[in-house]
Amino acid sequence: MTLSIDNTKKIDVQTGLIHSVESCGTVDGPGIRFVIFTQGCPLRCLYCHNPDCRHFEDGKTVTVAELVNEIEKYKSYFEYSGGGVTVTGGEPLMQPDFVKAIFQECKKRNIHTVLDTSGYVNLNSAKPVLEYTDLVLLDIKSFDEKIYHKLTNVSLEPTLIFARYLAQINKPTWIRFVLVPNLTDPEHNVRGLAEFIAPFKNVEKVEVLPFHKMGEYKWETLGYDYQLKDTEAPSPELIKKVTNIFKSYGLTVQ
Ligand code: SF4
Repeated sequence: MTLSIDNTKKIDVQTGLIHSVESCGTVDGPGIRFVIFTQGCPLRCLYCHNPDCRHFEDGKTVTVAELVNEIEKYKSYFEYSGGGVTVTGGEPLMQPDFVKAIFQECKKRNIHTVLDTSGYVNLNSAKPVLEYTDLVLLDIKSFDEKIYHKLTNVSLEPTLIFARYLAQINKPTWIRFVLVPNLTDPEHNVRGLAEFIAPFKNVEKVEVLPFHKMGEYKWETLGYDYQLKDTEAPSPELIKKVTNIFKSYGLTVQ
């Protein structure tokens, strides 16, 4: 959708760079959600379905006030469905002050806030955002460091540090794991991740997300090399196997 801008109700003048918004999302957190896709991401995930979110310079500038004015229109949907606002990306924590300001305004209005992040962030800049975050969707893309790097082009450690911090402050968290055949599916990788998160009391569930190629056309349009062309979606058997591994560590899986 296109943002219809109403500047009559100024909240503040803080601005950020976004790719787009979706007014009635249902896959990024509970209930019906207003989803904000921020612009800019330091990762280069091979399966990324938002490769057009990579570079800051391709984003559009919006103010927190503009977003909040738009968000308020959907408040009844949030109340009815147990939903709220999700900020995803890109990597939202590349713009921590902006995300914090959005969430602060949401909390003033009693709107539930979800942060979807790779955790590849500066923990100190993320901490103030977490104070206004009700739920974190933490994408741990792989537990095997080599696979993680091959998949994202960055190192795993910052994400693990972030995950440990979420546990320390007992922040409600859903772990997201994209299951990619012949990439993230080795048993030691899944078990390693399950073993790592199992002791964390703040982890409410694990979402096993089957790999899909819905973003492939964007890679082609942008002239990027999509390396997973020949990779198939995981079979129901593989999904079940991976789900059962997580469950065997006492984790709730969706
Ligand atoms: S973290 Fe998300 S937006 Fe960034 S490259 Fe990976 S999948 Fe794409």
